[in-house]
Amino acid sequence: MNGSAVWHPFTQHAVEPAMPSVVWTEGAWLQTNDGTRILDAISSWWVVTHGHRHPKIMDAIRNATETLDQVIFAGLTHEPAEQLASALVEMTPSGLDWVFYSDSGSTSVEVALKMALGFYRNNGAPRSRIVVMESSYHGDTIGAMSVGARGVFNAAYEPLLFEVDTIPFPAAGLEQKTLDRFEQLARDRRVAALIVEPLVVGAGGMLMYPAWVLAELKHIAARSETLFIADEVMTGWGRTGTVFACEQTGISPDILCTSKGLTGGAIPLAATLATDAIFRAHYSKDRAKAFFHSSSYTANPIACAAALANVGIWNDEPVGKRVAALARMQAEKVARFSEDPRFEDVRTTGTIAALDLRVGNAGYLAEVGPRLRAFFLERGLLVRPLGNVIYVLPPYCVTSGELDRLYEAIDEAAEPASDST
Ligand SMILES: *Cc1c(COP(=O)(O)O)cnc(C)c1O
Repeated sequence: MNGSAVWHPFTQHAVEPAMPSVVWTEGAWLQTNDGTRILDAISSWWVVTHGHRHPKIMDAIRNATETLDQVIFAGLTHEPAEQLASALVEMTPSGLDWVFYSDSGSTSVEVALKMALGFYRNNGAPRSRIVVMESSYHGDTIGAMSVGARGVFNAAYEPLLFEVDTIPFPAAGLEQKTLDRFEQLARDRRVAALIVEPLVVGAGGMLMYPAWVLAELKHIAARSETLFIADEVMTGWGRTGTVFACEQTGISPDILCTSKGLTGGAIPLAATLATDAIFRAHYSKDRAKAFFHSSSYTANPIACAAALANVGIWNDEPVGKRVAALARMQAEKVARFSEDPRFEDVRTTGTIAALDLRVGNAGYLAEVGPRLRAFFLERGLLVRPLGNVIYVLPPYCVTSGELDRLYEAIDEAAEPASDST
Protein backbone atom coordinates (compact mmCIF):
# COMPACT_ATOMS: atom_id res chain seq x y z
CA MET A 1 0.00 0.00 0.00
CA ASN A 2 3.09 2.23 -0.19
CA GLY A 3 2.10 4.20 2.89
CA SER A 4 -0.92 5.67 1.11
CA ALA A 5 -3.74 6.89 3.36
CA VAL A 6 -6.22 7.10 0.49
CA TRP A 7 -9.38 4.97 0.52
CA HIS A 8 -10.44 4.88 -3.15
CA PRO A 9 -14.05 4.76 -4.42
CA PHE A 10 -15.59 1.47 -5.58
CA THR A 11 -12.27 -0.22 -4.85
CA GLN A 12 -11.53 -3.50 -3.11
CA HIS A 13 -8.05 -2.61 -1.91
CA ALA A 14 -7.26 -6.22 -0.99
CA VAL A 15 -7.30 -7.32 -4.64
CA GLU A 16 -6.51 -4.08 -6.42
CA PRO A 17 -3.04 -3.93 -8.01
CA ALA A 18 -0.89 -0.85 -7.31
CA MET A 19 -2.54 2.20 -8.81
CA PRO A 20 -0.69 4.27 -11.37
CA SER A 21 -0.33 7.90 -10.31
CA VAL A 22 -1.48 10.41 -12.93
CA VAL A 23 0.64 13.52 -13.22
CA TRP A 24 -0.60 15.11 -16.42
CA THR A 25 -3.72 15.21 -18.57
CA GLU A 26 -4.46 16.58 -22.01
CA GLY A 27 -7.17 15.91 -24.58
CA ALA A 28 -8.03 12.21 -24.52
CA TRP A 29 -4.86 11.27 -22.63
CA LEU A 30 -3.57 10.72 -19.13
CA GLN A 31 0.12 10.38 -18.30
CA THR A 32 1.45 8.61 -15.23
CA ASN A 33 4.53 9.41 -13.15
CA ASP A 34 6.58 6.77 -15.00
CA GLY A 35 5.77 8.43 -18.33
CA THR A 36 3.13 5.92 -19.47
CA ARG A 37 0.37 7.41 -21.61
CA ILE A 38 -3.16 6.10 -21.15
CA LEU A 39 -6.07 6.74 -23.52
CA ASP A 40 -9.05 7.84 -21.41
CA ALA A 41 -11.76 5.88 -23.22
CA ILE A 42 -14.31 6.47 -20.47
CA SER A 43 -13.86 10.23 -20.07
CA SER A 44 -12.66 9.75 -16.48
CA TRP A 45 -15.97 8.24 -15.35
CA TRP A 46 -18.06 10.11 -17.92
CA VAL A 47 -17.27 13.65 -16.84
CA VAL A 48 -14.80 14.95 -19.45
CA THR A 49 -16.67 15.99 -22.60
CA HIS A 50 -14.47 18.08 -24.92
CA GLY A 51 -11.18 16.65 -23.63
CA HIS A 52 -8.98 17.03 -20.56
CA ARG A 53 -7.87 20.59 -19.76
CA HIS A 54 -9.69 22.41 -22.53
CA PRO A 55 -7.78 25.74 -22.66
CA LYS A 56 -10.92 27.91 -22.44
CA ILE A 57 -12.12 26.12 -19.31
CA MET A 58 -8.69 26.24 -17.68
CA ASP A 59 -8.46 29.98 -18.48
CA ALA A 60 -11.91 30.61 -17.05
CA ILE A 61 -10.94 28.89 -13.80
CA ARG A 62 -7.69 30.83 -13.59
CA ASN A 63 -9.46 34.13 -14.28
CA ALA A 64 -12.25 33.46 -11.82
CA THR A 65 -9.74 33.05 -9.00
CA GLU A 66 -8.62 36.66 -9.56
CA THR A 67 -11.91 37.95 -8.12
CA LEU A 68 -13.90 35.30 -6.25
CA ASP A 69 -13.76 32.15 -4.18
CA GLN A 70 -16.69 30.49 -2.37
CA VAL A 71 -19.43 32.95 -1.38
CA ILE A 72 -22.44 31.98 0.72
CA PHE A 73 -25.35 31.58 -1.70
CA ALA A 74 -28.27 32.25 0.67
CA GLY A 75 -28.97 35.98 0.88
CA LEU A 76 -26.21 36.78 -1.63
CA THR A 77 -25.70 36.12 -5.32
CA HIS A 78 -22.93 36.56 -7.91
CA GLU A 79 -22.56 37.06 -11.64
CA PRO A 80 -21.10 33.65 -12.59
CA ALA A 81 -24.13 31.89 -11.03
CA GLU A 82 -26.62 34.36 -12.52
CA GLN A 83 -25.16 34.14 -16.02
CA LEU A 84 -24.87 30.37 -15.88
CA ALA A 85 -28.49 29.99 -14.72
CA SER A 86 -29.71 32.07 -17.68
CA ALA A 87 -27.55 30.03 -20.04
CA LEU A 88 -28.85 26.73 -18.63
CA VAL A 89 -32.48 27.83 -18.97
CA GLU A 90 -31.65 28.72 -22.57
CA MET A 91 -29.90 25.41 -23.38
CA THR A 92 -32.22 22.92 -21.69
CA PRO A 93 -35.65 21.84 -22.99
CA SER A 94 -38.31 24.57 -22.74
CA GLY A 95 -40.23 25.09 -19.54
CA LEU A 96 -37.29 24.55 -17.20
CA ASP A 97 -37.09 28.08 -15.85
CA TRP A 98 -35.41 27.73 -12.45
CA VAL A 99 -31.91 26.55 -11.61
CA PHE A 100 -30.93 25.15 -8.22
CA TYR A 101 -27.21 24.56 -7.74
CA SER A 102 -25.45 21.78 -5.87
CA ASP A 103 -22.16 19.96 -6.21
CA SER A 104 -22.55 16.42 -7.57
CA GLY A 105 -24.87 14.25 -9.58
CA SER A 106 -26.08 12.54 -6.42
CA THR A 107 -26.98 15.81 -4.74
CA SER A 108 -28.74 17.03 -7.89
CA VAL A 109 -30.90 13.89 -7.64
CA GLU A 110 -31.58 14.41 -3.91
CA VAL A 111 -32.62 17.97 -4.75
CA ALA A 112 -34.93 16.71 -7.52
CA LEU A 113 -36.66 14.22 -5.18
CA LYS A 114 -37.07 16.87 -2.46
CA MET A 115 -38.49 19.35 -4.99
CA ALA A 116 -41.05 16.75 -6.09
CA LEU A 117 -42.23 16.04 -2.54
CA GLY A 118 -42.19 19.74 -1.67
CA PHE A 119 -44.33 20.48 -4.71
CA TYR A 120 -47.15 18.18 -3.61
CA ARG A 121 -46.94 18.99 0.08
CA ASN A 122 -47.00 22.75 -0.48
CA ASN A 123 -49.93 22.32 -2.86
CA GLY A 124 -51.87 20.62 -0.07
CA ALA A 125 -51.98 17.10 -1.50
CA PRO A 126 -48.89 15.31 -0.22
CA ARG A 127 -47.47 12.49 -2.33
CA SER A 128 -44.30 10.60 -1.59
CA ARG A 129 -43.91 7.49 -3.72
CA ILE A 130 -41.26 7.49 -6.45
CA VAL A 131 -41.38 5.29 -9.54
CA VAL A 132 -38.04 4.17 -10.94
CA MET A 133 -36.81 2.17 -13.92
CA GLU A 134 -35.23 -1.25 -13.40
CA SER A 135 -31.38 -1.23 -13.54
CA SER A 136 -31.14 2.53 -13.00
CA TYR A 137 -28.33 4.35 -11.25
CA HIS A 138 -28.84 7.80 -9.76
CA GLY A 139 -25.92 8.17 -7.35
CA ASP A 140 -24.56 6.87 -4.06
CA THR A 141 -26.18 8.99 -1.35
CA ILE A 142 -29.03 7.32 0.55
CA GLY A 143 -31.86 8.92 -1.43
CA ALA A 144 -30.11 8.43 -4.76
CA MET A 145 -29.40 4.79 -3.89
CA SER A 146 -33.03 4.32 -2.89
CA VAL A 147 -34.20 5.23 -6.39
CA GLY A 148 -31.45 3.12 -8.00
CA ALA A 149 -31.18 -0.61 -8.65
CA ARG A 150 -30.54 -2.75 -5.58
CA GLY A 151 -27.56 -5.06 -5.62
CA VAL A 152 -24.19 -5.87 -4.12
CA PHE A 153 -23.31 -2.18 -4.27
CA ASN A 154 -25.94 -1.17 -1.73
CA ALA A 155 -26.93 -4.41 0.05
CA ALA A 156 -25.34 -3.25 3.33
CA TYR A 157 -27.38 -0.04 3.34
CA GLU A 158 -30.69 -1.62 2.33
CA PRO A 159 -32.30 -1.00 5.75
CA LEU A 160 -31.90 2.76 5.21
CA LEU A 161 -33.28 2.81 1.66
CA PHE A 162 -36.87 3.87 1.10
CA GLU A 163 -39.33 1.76 -0.85
CA VAL A 164 -39.97 2.58 -4.52
CA ASP A 165 -42.12 1.21 -7.35
CA THR A 166 -40.18 -0.20 -10.30
CA ILE A 167 -41.09 -0.35 -13.98
CA PRO A 168 -39.24 -2.89 -16.15
CA PHE A 169 -36.46 -1.74 -18.46
CA PRO A 170 -38.05 -1.19 -21.91
CA ALA A 171 -36.01 -3.85 -23.71
CA ALA A 172 -36.61 -4.24 -27.45
CA GLY A 173 -40.04 -5.74 -28.03
CA LEU A 174 -41.11 -5.26 -24.40
CA GLU A 175 -41.61 -1.49 -24.46
CA GLN A 176 -45.37 -1.71 -24.10
CA LYS A 177 -44.98 -3.72 -20.90
CA THR A 178 -42.96 -0.88 -19.39
CA LEU A 179 -45.52 1.70 -20.44
CA ASP A 180 -48.46 -0.35 -19.20
CA ARG A 181 -46.80 -0.89 -15.84
CA PHE A 182 -46.14 2.82 -15.46
CA GLU A 183 -49.70 3.66 -16.51
CA GLN A 184 -50.94 1.32 -13.78
CA LEU A 185 -48.59 2.67 -11.07
CA ALA A 186 -49.18 6.32 -11.95
CA ARG A 187 -52.91 5.95 -11.23
CA ASP A 188 -51.98 5.74 -7.56
CA ARG A 189 -52.43 9.25 -6.15
CA ARG A 190 -49.52 8.66 -3.78
CA VAL A 191 -47.02 8.65 -6.66
CA ALA A 192 -45.08 11.92 -6.74
CA ALA A 193 -42.62 11.33 -9.55
CA LEU A 194 -40.99 9.07 -12.08
CA ILE A 195 -37.20 9.38 -12.26
CA VAL A 196 -35.39 8.04 -15.34
CA GLU A 197 -32.09 8.15 -17.13
CA PRO A 198 -33.17 9.27 -20.62
CA LEU A 199 -32.21 6.95 -23.54
CA VAL A 200 -29.19 5.34 -21.84
CA VAL A 201 -29.26 3.57 -18.48
CA GLY A 202 -25.58 4.06 -17.69
CA ALA A 203 -24.08 2.30 -14.68
CA GLY A 204 -26.77 -0.40 -14.93
CA GLY A 205 -25.01 -1.69 -18.07
CA MET A 206 -25.22 1.01 -20.78
CA LEU A 207 -28.69 -0.25 -21.66
CA MET A 208 -30.30 1.75 -24.45
CA TYR A 209 -33.95 2.38 -25.30
CA PRO A 210 -35.67 4.43 -27.97
CA ALA A 211 -36.79 8.06 -27.70
CA TRP A 212 -40.45 7.25 -28.30
CA VAL A 213 -40.58 5.24 -25.06
CA LEU A 214 -39.21 8.22 -23.14
CA ALA A 215 -41.82 10.47 -24.77
CA GLU A 216 -44.62 8.03 -23.87
CA LEU A 217 -43.44 7.85 -20.26
CA LYS A 218 -43.61 11.64 -20.09
CA HIS A 219 -47.12 11.68 -21.60
CA ILE A 220 -48.34 9.12 -19.08
CA ALA A 221 -46.76 11.14 -16.26
CA ALA A 222 -48.44 14.32 -17.50
CA ARG A 223 -51.87 12.64 -17.76
CA SER A 224 -51.62 11.33 -14.21
CA GLU A 225 -50.15 14.55 -12.77
CA THR A 226 -46.98 12.70 -11.83
CA LEU A 227 -43.76 14.71 -12.05
CA PHE A 228 -41.22 13.54 -14.60
CA ILE A 229 -37.58 13.76 -13.48
CA ALA A 230 -34.92 13.37 -16.17
CA ASP A 231 -31.58 12.42 -14.64
CA GLU A 232 -29.27 13.74 -17.39
CA VAL A 233 -26.18 13.59 -15.17
CA MET A 234 -24.51 11.18 -17.61
CA THR A 235 -26.54 11.74 -20.80
CA GLY A 236 -26.25 15.55 -20.79
CA TRP A 237 -23.80 17.70 -22.75
CA GLY A 238 -23.73 15.78 -25.99
CA ARG A 239 -23.25 12.15 -24.97
CA THR A 240 -26.37 10.88 -26.73
CA GLY A 241 -25.89 13.07 -29.82
CA THR A 242 -27.90 16.10 -28.68
CA VAL A 243 -26.96 18.51 -25.88
CA PHE A 244 -29.58 16.83 -23.67
CA ALA A 245 -31.08 13.42 -24.42
CA CYS A 246 -34.64 14.70 -23.81
CA GLU A 247 -34.31 16.91 -26.91
CA GLN A 248 -34.62 13.77 -29.05
CA THR A 249 -38.13 13.15 -27.78
CA GLY A 250 -39.60 16.63 -28.09
CA ILE A 251 -40.68 16.43 -24.45
CA SER A 252 -39.67 18.62 -21.53
CA PRO A 253 -39.22 17.05 -18.13
CA ASP A 254 -40.60 18.78 -15.01
CA ILE A 255 -37.20 18.44 -13.37
CA LEU A 256 -33.79 17.88 -14.99
CA CYS A 257 -30.55 16.93 -13.21
CA THR A 258 -27.19 17.84 -14.72
CA SER A 259 -23.64 17.50 -13.42
CA LYS A 260 -20.72 15.50 -14.92
CA GLY A 261 -20.26 17.39 -18.25
CA LEU A 262 -21.61 20.69 -16.89
CA THR A 263 -18.11 22.10 -16.40
CA GLY A 264 -16.73 20.06 -19.29
CA GLY A 265 -15.59 17.68 -16.55
CA ALA A 266 -13.02 20.03 -15.04
CA ILE A 267 -14.42 20.76 -11.58
CA PRO A 268 -17.46 19.64 -9.55
CA LEU A 269 -20.78 21.38 -10.04
CA ALA A 270 -24.39 20.29 -10.42
CA ALA A 271 -27.72 21.88 -11.17
CA THR A 272 -31.31 20.77 -10.85
CA LEU A 273 -33.65 22.64 -13.18
CA ALA A 274 -37.36 22.89 -12.47
CA THR A 275 -40.53 24.26 -14.02
CA ASP A 276 -42.17 27.45 -12.85
CA ALA A 277 -45.01 25.39 -11.33
CA ILE A 278 -42.55 23.65 -9.01
CA PHE A 279 -40.90 26.93 -8.06
CA ARG A 280 -44.34 28.53 -7.47
CA ALA A 281 -45.31 25.73 -5.10
CA HIS A 282 -42.44 26.86 -2.88
CA TYR A 283 -43.12 30.60 -3.36
CA SER A 284 -45.12 31.93 -0.45
CA LYS A 285 -45.22 34.48 2.36
CA ASP A 286 -45.02 31.37 4.52
CA ARG A 287 -41.35 30.71 5.25
CA ALA A 288 -42.14 27.07 6.03
CA LYS A 289 -42.84 26.54 2.34
CA ALA A 290 -39.31 27.49 1.27
CA PHE A 291 -37.17 24.85 -0.41
CA PHE A 292 -35.01 23.56 2.41
CA HIS A 293 -31.81 22.40 0.81
CA SER A 294 -28.27 23.70 0.65
CA SER A 295 -24.77 22.42 0.02
CA SER A 296 -21.97 24.48 1.55
CA TYR A 297 -20.39 24.88 -1.87
CA THR A 298 -23.63 25.74 -3.66
CA ALA A 299 -22.90 27.69 -6.87
CA ASN A 300 -19.17 27.87 -6.29
CA PRO A 301 -18.11 30.86 -8.44
CA ILE A 302 -15.02 29.15 -9.85
CA ALA A 303 -17.06 26.10 -10.86
CA CYS A 304 -19.76 28.37 -12.34
CA ALA A 305 -17.07 30.17 -14.37
CA ALA A 306 -15.84 26.80 -15.66
CA ALA A 307 -19.41 25.86 -16.63
CA LEU A 308 -19.88 29.20 -18.38
CA ALA A 309 -16.72 28.51 -20.37
CA ASN A 310 -18.18 25.11 -21.27
CA VAL A 311 -21.38 26.78 -22.46
CA GLY A 312 -19.19 29.19 -24.47
CA ILE A 313 -17.45 26.27 -26.14
CA TRP A 314 -20.82 24.79 -27.10
CA ASN A 315 -21.91 28.13 -28.55
CA ASP A 316 -18.66 29.13 -30.29
CA GLU A 317 -17.07 25.88 -31.42
CA PRO A 318 -18.62 23.26 -33.73
CA VAL A 319 -19.23 20.85 -30.84
CA GLY A 320 -22.47 19.57 -32.38
CA LYS A 321 -20.56 18.56 -35.51
CA ARG A 322 -17.79 16.97 -33.45
CA VAL A 323 -20.37 14.95 -31.53
CA ALA A 324 -22.09 13.87 -34.75
CA ALA A 325 -18.75 12.82 -36.26
CA LEU A 326 -17.83 10.83 -33.16
CA ALA A 327 -21.26 9.18 -33.14
CA ARG A 328 -20.74 8.09 -36.76
CA MET A 329 -17.23 6.76 -36.03
CA GLN A 330 -18.44 4.82 -33.00
CA ALA A 331 -21.29 3.23 -34.95
CA GLU A 332 -18.98 2.27 -37.83
CA LYS A 333 -16.19 0.88 -35.69
CA VAL A 334 -18.25 -1.12 -33.22
CA ALA A 335 -20.23 -2.61 -36.12
CA ARG A 336 -17.33 -5.01 -36.78
CA PHE A 337 -18.59 -6.99 -33.78
CA SER A 338 -22.27 -7.03 -34.62
CA GLU A 339 -22.15 -10.52 -36.20
CA ASP A 340 -19.32 -11.69 -33.96
CA PRO A 341 -20.42 -14.70 -31.83
CA ARG A 342 -18.10 -13.62 -29.00
CA PHE A 343 -20.30 -10.56 -28.37
CA GLU A 344 -23.95 -9.74 -28.13
CA ASP A 345 -26.15 -6.68 -28.07
CA VAL A 346 -23.74 -4.41 -29.96
CA ARG A 347 -25.29 -0.97 -29.58
CA THR A 348 -24.74 2.77 -29.79
CA THR A 349 -26.61 5.90 -28.82
CA GLY A 350 -24.90 9.09 -29.97
CA THR A 351 -21.25 9.02 -28.88
CA ILE A 352 -21.67 5.97 -26.62
CA ALA A 353 -20.94 2.45 -27.86
CA ALA A 354 -21.42 -0.72 -25.83
CA LEU A 355 -21.33 -4.48 -26.34
CA ASP A 356 -21.68 -7.48 -24.09
CA LEU A 357 -18.94 -10.07 -23.99
CA ARG A 358 -20.50 -13.53 -24.00
CA VAL A 359 -19.20 -15.38 -20.98
CA GLY A 360 -19.50 -19.09 -20.34
CA ASN A 361 -20.75 -19.21 -16.78
CA ALA A 362 -22.05 -16.79 -14.22
CA GLY A 363 -19.22 -17.45 -11.73
CA TYR A 364 -16.77 -16.19 -14.29
CA LEU A 365 -18.81 -13.04 -14.66
CA ALA A 366 -17.70 -11.55 -11.37
CA GLU A 367 -14.07 -11.70 -12.41
CA VAL A 368 -14.36 -10.67 -16.02
CA GLY A 369 -14.71 -6.93 -15.35
CA PRO A 370 -11.46 -6.46 -13.37
CA ARG A 371 -9.61 -8.88 -15.68
CA LEU A 372 -10.58 -6.88 -18.74
CA ARG A 373 -9.70 -3.62 -17.02
CA ALA A 374 -6.17 -4.92 -16.33
CA PHE A 375 -5.88 -6.23 -19.89
CA PHE A 376 -6.70 -2.81 -21.35
CA LEU A 377 -4.53 -0.88 -18.90
CA GLU A 378 -1.51 -2.99 -19.88
CA ARG A 379 -2.11 -1.68 -23.39
CA GLY A 380 -2.39 1.96 -22.30
CA LEU A 381 -6.17 2.05 -22.50
CA LEU A 382 -8.50 3.15 -19.72
CA VAL A 383 -11.61 0.97 -20.08
CA ARG A 384 -13.77 -0.03 -17.10
CA PRO A 385 -16.24 -2.74 -18.10
CA LEU A 386 -19.46 -3.08 -16.12
CA GLY A 387 -19.27 -6.83 -15.51
CA ASN A 388 -19.21 -8.28 -19.04
CA VAL A 389 -20.41 -5.03 -20.62
CA ILE A 390 -17.61 -3.26 -22.48
CA TYR A 391 -18.39 0.34 -23.34
CA VAL A 392 -16.53 3.16 -25.05
CA LEU A 393 -17.50 6.62 -23.85
CA PRO A 394 -14.64 8.88 -24.92
CA PRO A 395 -14.11 12.64 -24.85
CA TYR A 396 -15.17 14.31 -28.11
CA CYS A 397 -11.58 15.12 -29.14
CA VAL A 398 -10.71 11.42 -29.54
CA THR A 399 -9.42 10.59 -33.03
CA SER A 400 -10.39 7.84 -35.41
CA GLY A 401 -6.92 6.31 -35.04
CA GLU A 402 -7.19 6.27 -31.25
CA LEU A 403 -10.57 4.55 -31.49
CA ASP A 404 -9.11 1.99 -33.88
CA ARG A 405 -6.49 1.07 -31.29
CA LEU A 406 -9.22 0.63 -28.76
CA TYR A 407 -11.45 -1.59 -30.90
CA GLU A 408 -8.43 -3.63 -31.89
CA ALA A 409 -7.78 -4.23 -28.18
CA ILE A 410 -11.44 -5.16 -27.59
CA ASP A 411 -11.10 -7.74 -30.34
CA GLU A 412 -7.98 -9.15 -28.67
CA ALA A 413 -9.54 -9.05 -25.21
CA ALA A 414 -12.35 -11.33 -26.31
CA GLU A 415 -9.96 -14.17 -27.27
CA PRO A 416 -9.27 -15.66 -23.83
CA ALA A 417 -12.97 -15.43 -22.95
CA SER A 418 -13.99 -17.43 -26.00
CA ASP A 419 -11.27 -20.03 -25.26
CA SER A 420 -12.60 -20.66 -21.78
CA THR A 421 -16.21 -21.20 -22.85
C1 LIG B 1 -22.83 9.46 -12.16
C2 LIG B 1 -24.31 9.56 -12.07
C3 LIG B 1 -24.94 10.10 -10.94
C4 LIG B 1 -24.16 10.49 -9.70
O1 LIG B 1 -23.30 11.54 -9.92
P1 LIG B 1 -22.12 11.82 -8.89
O2 LIG B 1 -21.54 13.10 -9.34
O3 LIG B 1 -21.17 10.66 -9.01
O4 LIG B 1 -22.74 11.90 -7.53
C5 LIG B 1 -26.30 10.24 -10.96
N1 LIG B 1 -27.03 9.87 -12.03
C6 LIG B 1 -26.46 9.33 -13.13
C7 LIG B 1 -27.33 8.96 -14.28
C8 LIG B 1 -25.09 9.14 -13.18
O5 LIG B 1 -24.54 8.57 -14.25
